[in-house]
Amino acid sequence: MNTLVWGGYSRISDDSEDERLGVKRQREDIEEGITKLGGVFSEELLFEENDTSAFKKRKVKIRDEYGEERYVWRVIRPVWAEAMRALRSGKINALMVYDLDRLARDPRDLEDAIDAVVYHGAKIVSAASSGINLETSDGQAWARVMVAMANKSSADTARRVKRSHLSRAREGTPLGGSRPFGYLPDKVTHDPVEAPLIRQAVEDLLNGASMRSIAERWEAMGVKTVRGKPWDRSVIRSLLSNPRLAGWRVHQGKIAVDKNGNPVRLVHPAALAALDECGKPTRVKNPIGGEPIEPLLDQDTFDRLQAVLVRPDNRKRKPRRGAHQYLLSGIMRCATCQAVMYGNYTGKTKSGAERYVYGCQGTSADKHTVAISGHGVDAFMTEAILKHLAETSFEKPEVSFSGDERLGQIREAITELMAAHREGQLSGAIVFPQVQQLEEEQHKLEAARSEFIRETSGPSTIEITPEGWEGMSTDKRRAVFGTLIEAILVKPATVRGTTLDTSRLEVIWRR
Ligand SMILES: [Zn+2]
Repeated sequence: MNTLVWGGYSRISDDSEDERLGVKRQREDIEEGITKLGGVFSEELLFEENDTSAFKKRKVKIRDEYGEERYVWRVIRPVWAEAMRALRSGKINALMVYDLDRLARDPRDLEDAIDAVVYHGAKIVSAASSGINLETSDGQAWARVMVAMANKSSADTARRVKRSHLSRAREGTPLGGSRPFGYLPDKVTHDPVEAPLIRQAVEDLLNGASMRSIAERWEAMGVKTVRGKPWDRSVIRSLLSNPRLAGWRVHQGKIAVDKNGNPVRLVHPAALAALDECGKPTRVKNPIGGEPIEPLLDQDTFDRLQAVLVRPDNRKRKPRRGAHQYLLSGIMRCATCQAVMYGNYTGKTKSGAERYVYGCQGTSADKHTVAISGHGVDAFMTEAILKHLAETSFEKPEVSFSGDERLGQIREAITELMAAHREGQLSGAIVFPQVQQLEEEQHKLEAARSEFIRETSGPSTIEITPEGWEGMSTDKRRAVFGTLIEAILVKPATVRGTTLDTSRLEVIWRR
């Protein structure tokens, strides 16, 4: 009889239930399980994986069994992979896992484990009472069913959590987890030490200080991030570019929007609690009515700050090289999903010229491929824009923005309403919906204003002639396109071929 060399595998994922289960308990049970079967437990052969999901997938590049290199979505567990390698190579020939659930939650991982048993003669045993037997077809079928169910349960949980996060975002209430820098653990009250630090840093940045100098000053003062880590430029950037500072509820890196598409203010969670008839706290029907928190920075300061953060000396890194090297990158849009299309290099022609296409791959939820020849579209659109410039007299828009007066009125109205509320003349129920509405209008106007400034400060297109166009840089040409054209929509190809089908293009001129 051949001797068994035992290894053990334990895994802790990041959810709290698993934390309670604990790596210690898994380890004890694995050791006990091995000993009970007359084996020898060895610390060195215990494969322990921490904070690793057996469910979540990541995109990775592989070379498959047909030699094709491609991107696939896989559960990534490096320690698990090492344990499987050890089994296949014969470094160990038996593996004790806590239970089937620790072993695999992804059918593909289970298949690998079954292969190790079937083709490499490995033994896989579970320490928990629910035995695993991957040696018989009955046992394999049972394991496949159990893993399928565990996988569904993970998927259900992930969906529930995602949905609940979305609801919370729409309500404007903060989530669990660690507090943001500048706030107390309730995530809405300003921290008496950190909030003034942020305000001072912002003032200094607006006065020309660099992010590096802020990071250095905070380091010297012994100020750490909430996780106790040191500051650097990129950490300061992510802190200062978070719209939460201006009182917005942020969801997945962007300002959350409610069901009607309006931006959501961060609100006091306490404001959501109301008492039911038994005197127990309950949630109010319309949580949007929760009182907005006092922003750490006013909107104007926050906006000016964002402009400072993108200054070249404050940029984390240069924009991706070549991201905009093609004439119509970012101006072309996919007619199917409206996504912006960028130029993609596809090789060289026989004469050595660069070949490229503008393309859209869709998303994982909505896969589609739309691609159009870069040279073809660029030439066609260049001709179109020169024709347009020859035919229309281009007038520069007025210098002042028409919404300036209204913007002033809105700011005043908000100030008055808030003052009336502070002095107790008007209740929050009356003031906040009004303020919110005003702020929505304000943001729309401000967006229109920056657009206006962008356009009016753009290149004058009056003087452009075909000869002048020849001498222009791609950047300048792009600016002309941006000034005159809102977007160029591209429909999917209906026939295969190399000639440009211009009926696929829909040009949306700016008015
Ligand atoms: Zn698309």
